Amino acid sequence: MANDFAQRLLNWFGRHGRHDLPWQRDATPYRVWVSEIMLQQTQVAVVVPYFERFMARFPDLQSLAAADQDAVLHLWSGLGYYARARNLHRAARVIVAEHQGRFPEQVEALEALPGIGRSTAGAILSLALGQHHPILDGNCKRVLARCFAIPGWPGSNAVLAQLWALAEALTPLEQVADFNQAMMDLGATLCKRARPACSVCPLADCCQALAQDAVSAYPAPKPRKQTPLRAAQLLLIQDPHGQVLLQRRPPAGIWGGLWTPPELSVDADAEDWCRSQLGACVLRLEMLPRRRHTFSHFQLEMWPVLVKLAAAAARVGDQPDVSWIDPAQPGALGLPAPIRRLLTELGATTPRAVAEADSERQPSE
Ligand code: SF4
Repeated sequence: MANDFAQRLLNWFGRHGRHDLPWQRDATPYRVWVSEIMLQQTQVAVVVPYFERFMARFPDLQSLAAADQDAVLHLWSGLGYYARARNLHRAARVIVAEHQGRFPEQVEALEALPGIGRSTAGAILSLALGQHHPILDGNCKRVLARCFAIPGWPGSNAVLAQLWALAEALTPLEQVADFNQAMMDLGATLCKRARPACSVCPLADCCQALAQDAVSAYPAPKPRKQTPLRAAQLLLIQDPHGQVLLQRRPPAGIWGGLWTPPELSVDADAEDWCRSQLGACVLRLEMLPRRRHTFSHFQLEMWPVLVKLAAAAARVGDQPDVSWIDPAQPGALGLPAPIRRLLTELGATTPRAVAEADSERQPSE
């Protein structure tokens, strides 16, 4: 059975699999690692340009380890799930410090690094070095749950154990890299979450979910929980030159290490905050349209408030975690996608803001 399963997949992969992805060329452990981390929760087409930019800037482990976190987060801006980038960066530094800069080639050593679980470790070592390790990413879970009609949500420990046992039993001793890539490709291109292409699937003859005419029942969805909604004011504080204040967030937590406008609870007074924190008087406040951003475990309702200062802030100078930026050209800072969009919109009005400021300054100059 295992041989038949593997052979069907390998035959299909030879004809229809993906063989020319950027990380498949010169498939070193470093390149495969970066690609595997980027591909978590993210589709191949989205990842490709990010991967190419990342490799152009950080072609090897040493350059990544030597970079500062801002540069790494900047290249991750828009890809989401920023803990992945912070862990990648931390892991590169651990490899340099504790493994003499050589990428570990044992699965246990890889699993000890930040952000690398069993499946990612198996993918790196099998795809880059041909070692015999099963993998179990989201695509593989879906294929196995359907093909073997495994009931239950794959995130639960009991179901996960069943799926790992299947992955171990089915992974062949030869052509492991091709087999693992084939599993991921089949899940991504045929056995998709919605409307799987069963009529052209190499596993159709042995797929139990298809035989039961119950493909959509597998895998079972995550038990539903109400996603909490949080709200916060985002202060887009603009000085008379049109520059906007950004703060670097603490390393842990949402958008950790990224740059965002000051965030206040919805009942806090923005004017008071500017006076007490910046020593600045507010010229004008404008509530901008609210918008929502969905995180994995909650939704954030952002209440952007445009705050025009009467004069440059007195108390914010050259602090390391504070920056005044031109919203039209924020530079190489790590910015969450919704914040980048807000700044872009604001940047479109910045020339007017600067012109206003210039005309306001004129009489006293
Ligand atoms: S036959 Fe359909 S459900 Fe079964 S593995 Fe293939 S694509 Fe997935």
